[in-house]
This record gives sequence, structure tokens and C-alpha cells, in this order.
Amino acid sequence: MNSFISALYRLSIPVILLTIALILRPRVSQIGAEPLTLLQYLPYVLAVISGLLAMQFNRSRFLLLAVVTVAVYWLVQTRLQVSLDDVGAAQVFNTLAFGLPAIILALVLFDERGIFNPYGLIYGVVLCVLAWAAWQYAELVAQYVQQGSPWFVLWPRDGYVLSWAATVLNLLVAAVALVLVFIRRDQCEVALLGTLVAVWALLGWFYLPQASIALFAATGVLQIVALLRASHAMAYQDELTGLLGRRALNERLRGLGGRYALAMVDVDHFKKVNDTHGHDVGDDVLKLVASQLSRSRGGGTCFRYGGEEFCVLFPRRNIEECLDTVEHMREAVAGYEITLRDKSQRPRRSVDGAKRRSSKPRGAVKVSPNNLSVTVSIGLAEKSEELRSPEEVIAAADQKLYSAKKKGRNRVCA
Ligand code: GH3
Ligand code: MG
Ligand code: MG
Repeated sequence: MNSFISALYRLSIPVILLTIALILRPRVSQIGAEPLTLLQYLPYVLAVISGLLAMQFNRSRFLLLAVVTVAVYWLVQTRLQVSLDDVGAAQVFNTLAFGLPAIILALVLFDERGIFNPYGLIYGVVLCVLAWAAWQYAELVAQYVQQGSPWFVLWPRDGYVLSWAATVLNLLVAAVALVLVFIRRDQCEVALLGTLVAVWALLGWFYLPQASIALFAATGVLQIVALLRASHAMAYQDELTGLLGRRALNERLRGLGGRYALAMVDVDHFKKVNDTHGHDVGDDVLKLVASQLSRSRGGGTCFRYGGEEFCVLFPRRNIEECLDTVEHMREAVAGYEITLRDKSQRPRRSVDGAKRRSSKPRGAVKVSPNNLSVTVSIGLAEKSEELRSPEEVIAAADQKLYSAKKKGRNRVCA
């Protein structure tokens, strides 16, 4: 799936969950007192589940998010069920209003490094310091309000409780998280963004009855869904290229009843790239090849088969119908040059460097002092009377790939 579309898909999950929470919120007030008491425990139960899953998958950011969420919910339930005219309640409110976005920002910026190591501890300590700083800041906010600053007063306008200063902070952090949802492939940013927006909505429209149960239940579900999706990605997605891996291909092939065609793609002389430029550049080349193959339109899904081999699956197609697409894929890879910079200055993602089209001799790793480009050889096969099982089709495509290599590389054999 295109990375922009997959980011939009990730974003749709919190949008749907928070919308459902807001729609169902008035109904929470209508259920009887006893079920309501039970329902109040739901966000705690969901946070425990997401915390346990986070530990199982060794995700420090998810674990800290679950802890923070449960702490915020507990504060709302135990300290904020009184009027905000109360000085103590106003301080807790402002601590949440400024502290939560600061903590979410820190979690957004942290790299995921697992739980049971010094980083897990350092991250936890940083969040505690931020919470303490927010508590101190909330005292200052009370002073600003007394001095008549319009930026810090609660209820700045009818129907909206959060101060303008806290609103701006929430907005900025939400913008950073949103950008990172599109830049990173991780699921955590979406959970962080959804939690931020949920608490923002809760504090902004604080007078709405039972909003906390509905919104915190939604964030609990959101965090669990994001964790499950992250674990699914760990099992099915190739980390380097972001493509689906061999396990996903095998499952897809098992589920294909009708006809299909399949292209095996192998980078030509790839060992030479590693030997000449090092493994890091080799990795960048693989990312480039993956992005070129998956960018191509034509109904194919690209998988990383292993090493420098890829597989493109065309459901409901025969060889003839996908030959043009495959030929375009070969040309797209051959037509890109990666600009190599001085090793000390070279960015880790050199595929992002300037690329321009060029023509190349067949089957070459074209290396000039500043540029590098590679070619691929492709073998095509389709399901038929003779080739019934996926293993047979893959073996036939591999045979064709071998022919393409023997004929001089940088070509398609069908
Ligand atoms: P041919 O044209 O015949 O395919 O030649 P080749 O050099 O591409 O084939 P060969 O199978 O000899 O070499 C493949 C190399 O790909 C060897 C291996 O080190 C490298 N490779 C496999 N996976 C990765 C990876 O994830 N990253 C990097 N950088 N290199 C990899
Ligand atoms: Mg190979
Ligand atoms: Mg190769």
C-alpha cells in the first residue's frame, strides 16, 4: 500500500473511535447507576490490557502511554469532579492541560528502544520530570490569571473551557504528531495523537457529562488496536523496505483461488554494490528498488522475498496482461541514479538524495564517483494447468529469472 494512503488509513482508526465515543457519550448518562459504576472501571481495564501487551511486545512508548493515560483518567475521576472555581481543581486541570501535551511530545520524539534497558528507565524519569514541571507551571498559571492575562483564563469563551495558551500548545503538539504519522511507519504516533486529541476534547468541553468514560474507553481501545497492528506489522512487514514479507506472500498465495501471475525480481550484481560501497549503501539501494517496484501501477503487490529478491503478485492476471507493467518496473529501477556523497556527509537515507533519469547498459551496476544505479532481472510465470500450486509457479518464475540472468541481466523473461 502506498505510504500516504496507509498513513491515512492509520489516521482513520482514532477518528472513527473518537467519533463513536462522542456519539455514544450521551447514552452513558442514561444507563443506570450500577452499570455506570462498572463502566467507570472500563478505561482502567483497557489500560491494563494495553500495558501488558506493550510489555509483551517490548514497546516502551506504548507502555508509558498506557501509564500516562491511566494516571490522567484517575486524576479526572478523583480530583476533577468538582467546580473548576476550586483552586486545587484548577491546578490539577492546568497541570493536565499543559503537562499532557508536553508528555505526548516527548513520547512522539523518543525513539522506540524497548522497555527493559536503561532507556526505558530514562524515558520514565523524563516523563515524571515533565509531570512535576507541569504541576509547578500550573501554580504560575494561577498567578498569570490573577494578573489578568487573557491567555491563561479558563472558559475563554462560551462553551470552551481550555485556556488559549493550553489550546495553542495542544495544537502545536498535534501538528508535530500528525506530521510524524505520515513520515514514520510506526503505529505509536497515531495512538499518541488520538490520546492527545481525546484529552484535549475532554478538557475543552469539560462540562459534558460522562465524556471522560467515553473518551478514555476510546483511547484504551485505540492503544490496544495500535499495539496489535504493530505486532502484526512485526510479523508480516519487512523492516528495511516496509514491504510485506515472505510470510504475507505465502498467506496471500494460499488464499488465491483463481488465476494469477507472479514476477520474481532479483537485483543484478548486488554483491558488488555491497563490496564497493558498503552494506549501508546496499540497504539504501534495496529501499530504492522496493519503492520503485511498489510505486508502479498495474494491480501488482510487491513483497520482499528475501535478500535482494522481490516478488510481485498479480491476482486475476495472466502473463500477457502484466508484461507491460513488469517491463516498466524494470525500466523504473534502471532509470534511477542514487547520488553518493562524501561518506562522512552521506545521509543514512541516500535514496532521498537527488535522483535523475539516465540510460544504462544492460545488467550493469553503474558506478561513477558520485552516482550509483542498479538494474534488475525479472522472471514471470502464471498459474496454469501445468503449474497448479504456488510453489510450482514460484519455481517457474525463478527458472525464467535464471534465464534473464543468463541472457545478460536487466531484462524480463516470461
Ligand atoms: P546476480 O546478478 O547473479 O543476482 O548477482 P548478485 O551479486 O546480486 O547475487 P548474489 O546472490 O551473489 O549476491 C546477493 C548479495 O545480496 C549477497 C548478500 O550479501 C546481499 N544481501 C542480501 N540481503 C541483503 C540486505 O538486506 N542488505 C544488504 N546490504 N545486502 C544484502
Ligand atoms: Mg539473488
Ligand atoms: Mg542478485
